[in-house]
Amino acid sequence: MINFEYSRVSSIKAAIDMAAKNPTGGFIAGGTNLVDLMKKGIMSPTRLIDINNLPLKDIRETATGLTVGALVINSDLAENEIVRNNYPLLAMALRAGASPQLRNMATLGGNMMQRTRCTYFYDTAMPCNKRQPGSGCGALQGYNRMHAIFGASDTCIAVHPSDMCVALAALNATVTVNGPKGERKIAFTDFHRLPGNNPEKDNTLLKGELVTSITIPKNSFAKNVYYLKIRDRASYAFALISVAAALELNGNTIRNARLAMGGVAHKPWRLVESEKFLIGKAATKENFDKAAELAMKGAKAYGHNNFKLKMGKVAVAEALTKAAG
Ligand code: SF4
Repeated sequence: MINFEYSRVSSIKAAIDMAAKNPTGGFIAGGTNLVDLMKKGIMSPTRLIDINNLPLKDIRETATGLTVGALVINSDLAENEIVRNNYPLLAMALRAGASPQLRNMATLGGNMMQRTRCTYFYDTAMPCNKRQPGSGCGALQGYNRMHAIFGASDTCIAVHPSDMCVALAALNATVTVNGPKGERKIAFTDFHRLPGNNPEKDNTLLKGELVTSITIPKNSFAKNVYYLKIRDRASYAFALISVAAALELNGNTIRNARLAMGGVAHKPWRLVESEKFLIGKAATKENFDKAAELAMKGAKAYGHNNFKLKMGKVAVAEALTKAAG
């Protein structure tokens, strides 16, 4: 761990200005991932800009949707009455993440910014293009049980570890960010990126930009939702595969459907083709199995994670069945 400087800021402008003056610095809020990364020498910001005092802790519902400040704590968001009643998929996904202690510290923005849990990324004796561009990928020929089956590249097959983000991708959330050039909005599904030739970049944030809030448009997914997480332990384990499923039903007919998977790609993996297939169909096992089959089109495994090809299909069908209730 290197020596670093520390500043606490109390306005968004001060945070952005401080980041512009310290291009090798970084923002810190809950610190549940960043501090570990610093201790291991994987990330070495020369200045930590503590944003915990910024006014980004509101949960607000309006006629058009729900806006959540980037500093809202994961456990507060999961237990919020509006979220539990009107956006239950988000509450379920949040409760599936990490441990109660971590959820009590982690923020919404930090959850989005957390880095992969690929073991080679955390082992500085091993090659890793994400940690050190050009060094190679230890996981490609290594023990890749937790790794991607969609959207990977020859340079990186890591997955994004968040549960919350899978639900936000399914719910068509928008991210608001602020930076040296002002405020801008990013579709949640465009916030995280695929590794391509630059796996060191996890997301589409520009230098010095800060996530300030997310907005979920109002929807009709308050009733038939399910977040299925398959993992090695019942608690405090990252997903081997997860599925966020939301259905709007009219009797037994599916009026609208949203589906996204976690633990399978460098970003939350939205299943648009399966959604399109389901709309207008009956909520039956046969249709859920067909949607699950479509979901796995183009999947590619790397050896130790071959089991994910079968598990993914079963998980999508199961999540839809549970969502249909
Ligand atoms: Fe690094 Fe990505 Fe390869 Fe893991 S999968 S070793 S994070 S380059």
